[in-house]
Amino acid sequence: IRTHSLEQANQKLSYNASHDPLTGLNNRFNFERELGNILSNYHVNNIPFSVLMLDIDWFKKVNDTYGHNVGDHVLKELSTLLSAAIRTEDSAYRTGGEEFVIILNRISKLDAIKKAEEIRHSVENYTYICDGYTFNITISCGVYHSQCIEAQDVHEVMKLVDDALYKAKHLGRNRIVLGELYIPTVL
Ligand code: GH3
Ligand code: MG
Ligand code: MG
Repeated sequence: IRTHSLEQANQKLSYNASHDPLTGLNNRFNFERELGNILSNYHVNNIPFSVLMLDIDWFKKVNDTYGHNVGDHVLKELSTLLSAAIRTEDSAYRTGGEEFVIILNRISKLDAIKKAEEIRHSVENYTYICDGYTFNITISCGVYHSQCIEAQDVHEVMKLVDDALYKAKHLGRNRIVLGELYIPTVL
């Protein structure tokens, strides 16, 4: 009996260490571990994959206008929407306050872009109803695809996808940007 309850306690600890309590999604720790595995596999078998980094646009305004409780409601609903939008072989993670990452396994560049655009579109069209308020939000999304740039490690992928997300914000938000290889032109 003692061994059994120790096992249960261990399972609970390990679950808590890898999941976000608010949304129930996998957390950053889990994401970095999974991406590390995918990259190692990729260097052996070349199976294409994609990483989407999504950030809610103007989320601070949601909290400031409707309150923190409504903000939390949005994070939970959005997590459900994202989980429903992906295939069973893919996973969604909450990697920061209002920042989410999705790993798409075995996917072409074109399909990854299509999926990111489909998610952006469904987020834009989803209406939140909470504490008497009714409103919509948008997301910006940076996309990494293994066939665009060969990243060596987790940090390189994160840098590329983060730069693409930054570009999406800078270009006016509610859009997706693909991280492309920068080739300096030599004249
Ligand atoms: P941008 O379009 O540039 O991303 O603007 P933004 O307002 O979304 O970005 P900013 O980084 O200024 O604000 C993020 C906000 O997210 C601030 C913080 O209060 C909120 N936030 C982070 N974590 C949580 C959370 O767990 N619950 C709630 N309600 N808000 C959170
Ligand atoms: Mg934001
Ligand atoms: Mg952010």
